[in-house]
Amino acid sequence: MKNLMHLLFALLLAWAGCQQPAEKPSQTGSDEDFVWKTEQFADKKIIRYRIPGFDSLTLQQKKLVYYLVQAGLSGRDIIYDQNYRHNLKIRRALDHIVRDYEGDRTTDEWNRFLVYAKNVWFSNGIHHHYSGDKFQPEFSRAYFQSLLEAVGHQLDDEVLDAMFDPTIDPKRTNLDPSKDLVKASAVNFYDPDLTEAEVRAFYESIIDKNDPTPPEWGLNSKVVRGPDGRLMERRWYADGMYGPAIREIIKWLEKAAEVAENEAQANALRILIDYYRTGDLEKWIDYNVAWVQATEGDVDYINGFVEVYNDPLGMKGTYETIVEIKDFEASARMQKVAENAQWFEDHSPIMDQHKKENVVGVSYNVVNVAGEAGDASPSTPIGVNLPNNNWIRVEYGSKSVSLGNIIDAYNKADGPVLLHEFACDEAEIERAEKYGSLASKIHTALHEVIGHASGKLEPGVGSPAETLKNYASPLEEARADLVALYFMMDPKMVELGLMPSLEVGKAAYDSYIRNGLMLQLRRIEPGATIEEAHMRNRQMIAKWVYEKGQPDNVIEKVVHDGKTCFKINDYEKLRALFGELLREVQRIKSQGDYEAGRALIENYGVQVDPEIHAEVLRRTEHLHIAPYGGFINPRLVPVTDDQGQIIDIKVEYPDDFTAQMLEYAEQYSFLPDEN
Ligand code: ZN
Repeated sequence: MKNLMHLLFALLLAWAGCQQPAEKPSQTGSDEDFVWKTEQFADKKIIRYRIPGFDSLTLQQKKLVYYLVQAGLSGRDIIYDQNYRHNLKIRRALDHIVRDYEGDRTTDEWNRFLVYAKNVWFSNGIHHHYSGDKFQPEFSRAYFQSLLEAVGHQLDDEVLDAMFDPTIDPKRTNLDPSKDLVKASAVNFYDPDLTEAEVRAFYESIIDKNDPTPPEWGLNSKVVRGPDGRLMERRWYADGMYGPAIREIIKWLEKAAEVAENEAQANALRILIDYYRTGDLEKWIDYNVAWVQATEGDVDYINGFVEVYNDPLGMKGTYETIVEIKDFEASARMQKVAENAQWFEDHSPIMDQHKKENVVGVSYNVVNVAGEAGDASPSTPIGVNLPNNNWIRVEYGSKSVSLGNIIDAYNKADGPVLLHEFACDEAEIERAEKYGSLASKIHTALHEVIGHASGKLEPGVGSPAETLKNYASPLEEARADLVALYFMMDPKMVELGLMPSLEVGKAAYDSYIRNGLMLQLRRIEPGATIEEAHMRNRQMIAKWVYEKGQPDNVIEKVVHDGKTCFKINDYEKLRALFGELLREVQRIKSQGDYEAGRALIENYGVQVDPEIHAEVLRRTEHLHIAPYGGFINPRLVPVTDDQGQIIDIKVEYPDDFTAQMLEYAEQYSFLPDEN
């Protein structure tokens, strides 16, 4: 499962980075002069990310990362073909034109063509990566024909119709239950002439419902009508469909297995290779069991046909890769926090009877991405929890990771603009620029490691899901946030060396109030209420402390030139209010007090102040912030000696999305136009 909820969370936090827009993106510079966002087009922005910690890896580890990234990119064509049967043909035509066209590249029509090409690269096909709606070209078919002729590229009418006729295959994945899901979806998992009923009947006939340890049925195949008229699977493996790309993937995975960090990791890689060679889903089970148990080492990866969101029937896995390096800094921070879990519990403002005598911090993994491909690129999740096969999760556990450098890059892409628009004064801006990034990371550590681990239920009280029902989730997030907020201003944090001064805590408070009372409303449609759990919890907390602090003017509503902001006048008193609310939210959970929980969320977390909302929408609109982000991958470059032996791997940070797409097309086009 990929974590998109946290994407929202990250975007809303929007901590300021230290970016000063430079003239030219730097290749190797420090965070301060690194350009995070390179361009925007349509509803998308292109972001760069860094790979912290890469240089401290051993040569063997660097090679492992490099081979895994190469393996991932080798399958890039697969996702295009999976998304739509004409995608590869169309993409190659676009690639060819963008690379070679020698005509006028300054006209409006050319620019509209280029946006179309970028949309296609961003979405791995001609349907929007998120909505699944087909892109309608904003240039004429005649113009496109002229571009094709100019570079000497042919496309047949069927493909051109698919591009230009809005009635043909308008939706990649159609989940409208009144439709035939298979027929109404353009995705290339089923022959176009098959019906949903036929496909369902086919799988009914082969799935063993009594198998306690079933494979992920249908995960690695396209369903087609066989020569005898009956349905059959065309499997994706070395000698089957997508074979030319899969054989390349195998080649790199074999090299990776040779430089694995330990035997468990090497063993998992060997089973993965075996799975790709055979297409046997029992081997995919063995692989997932081996992979989830391979927890030692600093490098990890996801590679395979994994997520099933693009299939209207939820069976077919899209190809993806994410290569991950342990976030050494975050791990050290989490460990420091976890070591002191009991201290935090003992000093928490919650009632004594709700404290745990022996608290253990929740382990939480942050990794940094070194490369992504397939369905995870250019648009990426920001957290992943795998494997998806439920019985493996129950029996062997799962790996859950948060993609630290991706989240960081998201925040830095738009953070400064939003900060400058919504901060109350220069001091707040300065604090955010100086400490915002660190404050965000410490908040996450406290929220995850201490927040969710803290507190206990009173004897005989049922689980929050039973007692608090639909309010359990926002209340749990509120509890974890409040633990983090309360301790962010504790001198203990400085004493533990987690922050240089309590200014970091102040930056966290500024941001929380700014987002909870204003900024997050930019994600809400006019007239709507807040539905998402994290958003409900944040507004609930911010509104509650604002209201309770009124007598002492703890948080002041300031309106200047028609612009509203909320200024914190007393951080110590605000901390006490967070503590008071934490005590109450913990009581609600510990006693299962549904009525009190409902009242908190409904009274403070759901309704939107229409005036503030309208103002936020008005003030963010002119900032032109694209809602979707996609990433340029760093480039890993092997350095070789006279004998051709790799002696080092260097990281470069390209800054041109188009150039990277053309480079990938050049290096990783392993599939024919039709598969
Ligand atoms: Zn949480």
